[in-house]
Amino acid sequence: MSKLHIVANRLPYSIKKEDDEIELIASVGGLATGMKSVYEDYGGKWIGWSGLNSDDLEEKESQKIDSLLGEKNCVTVPLSENEILEYYEGFSNKTIWPLFHYFTQYVDYTPANWETYKKVNQRFADKVLEVCEEGDTVWVHDYQLLLVPEMIKSKKPGVTVGFFLHIPFPSYEVFRILPWRMELLKGMLGADLLGFHIYDYERHFISSVRRLYGYEINFNQINLEDRVIKVDAYPMGIDYDKFVNASTDIMHKSIHERSDLHKELEKYFLMAPQRRLVLSIDRLDYSKGIPQRLKAFGNFLRKYPEFRGKVTMIMLAVPSRGHVEEYQKLKKEVDELVGNINGEFGKVNWVPVWYFYRSLPFENLIELYASCDVALITPLRDGMNLVAKEYVASRITGTGAIVLSEMAGVSKEMGEAITINPINEDEIADALYKALTMPVDEQKERMQLLQHRIQRYSIFKWASEFVNDLNKVKELQQEFL
Ligand code: UDP
Repeated sequence: MSKLHIVANRLPYSIKKEDDEIELIASVGGLATGMKSVYEDYGGKWIGWSGLNSDDLEEKESQKIDSLLGEKNCVTVPLSENEILEYYEGFSNKTIWPLFHYFTQYVDYTPANWETYKKVNQRFADKVLEVCEEGDTVWVHDYQLLLVPEMIKSKKPGVTVGFFLHIPFPSYEVFRILPWRMELLKGMLGADLLGFHIYDYERHFISSVRRLYGYEINFNQINLEDRVIKVDAYPMGIDYDKFVNASTDIMHKSIHERSDLHKELEKYFLMAPQRRLVLSIDRLDYSKGIPQRLKAFGNFLRKYPEFRGKVTMIMLAVPSRGHVEEYQKLKKEVDELVGNINGEFGKVNWVPVWYFYRSLPFENLIELYASCDVALITPLRDGMNLVAKEYVASRITGTGAIVLSEMAGVSKEMGEAITINPINEDEIADALYKALTMPVDEQKERMQLLQHRIQRYSIFKWASEFVNDLNKVKELQQEFL
């Protein structure tokens, strides 16, 4: 039977190294959850980086890690300190990430980073070529590995290659800025099926292919000289039941079983029952529109003074890419804005913004989703935004409202949210007012529609649909052989 292998920058395990002890910790992220259901069923391998700097590992340690991961059907691609710097932090996160999120002013064009990106992509492809045979299927993930599809296809044309991009694909006018645009597209065109979260990204990709390579295109099919490629949209979902079950568990916990955070939240409501909570959760990334959101919240308190003392925004900012300069500047800006708002409006018994700069355990996350009346999700650009879907799944009471940026991929599936332009701080303030004053019946009506939709297209459905389409492409190609 032919196998299905997964290739992603990271393996679905992280490694805990203490003295001589090495332990694998399974990742609970969306991709790992979704892929587990496919690659194990198909008897394949997962090829990726362990997250460790190979310069720091002794030969014996590397062998031990590779062997532990091998037991889990994982194949490690080692990265040295310089490769992490130039391939991962450099070309992936300082070039492709800002460009594909339309932050052209942040793009770094260092040629050495590009050279290392190519070299590391080749190393990933070589590992894939070692483990897969003609007739197998490979599913490559995301912007760190854009060159890998072609590197596989050119050596083993009988391998079916799928590629999914987890971030936006920008408009041609932005993509063309990149000096290495031809090479990147050529790399992606090595795939037989290319998946994007939404139709707009697919459309932008096709338009770049048409303009830069001039290939003939019929709807979602690209005709190359020697083969045909399919392009389609697959909006990534979540493990919906996991969030429903966790929220149900939390609701049924007795007072002394509750977490400290949950007790604090309850205390907040006990102080005054009409008090409301607004939730803001993201990695601290410039694409998420956090400063604009804070300023909009300030506007809201200025424009609707009746809500002073009655509404608190819980802002969870998860540390991310902290050694990149733009992220350090952003951290400073957010710290200052939180201070300004709390300084301007705060009272002895009321803090307008509760700010957490850290990540929280899953249980606490669910408590936040379940306790907050409004989710305020205002990215300037976001490939999808899973937080929005997780909020919907966790609202087992059926109440709650969402203020959502039209620049997030997820907005295409959430017509029932209150959509806003994330730059328009006035519009956000008014949308927040609308969300906080929305009658309960209307909240429930909108939430029910959202819940049905998000439940139906779960992470498992997303993964199986992509794999099914990949299998169909494979059959189609075999007819041509
Ligand atoms: N998340 C987390 N720990 C936290 C806060 C958030 O693991 O303390 C998770 C959250 O549950 C979600 C993910 O981080 O699954 C964020 O995904 P999203 O698509 O919203 O944004 P990304 O960070 O991928 O840009």
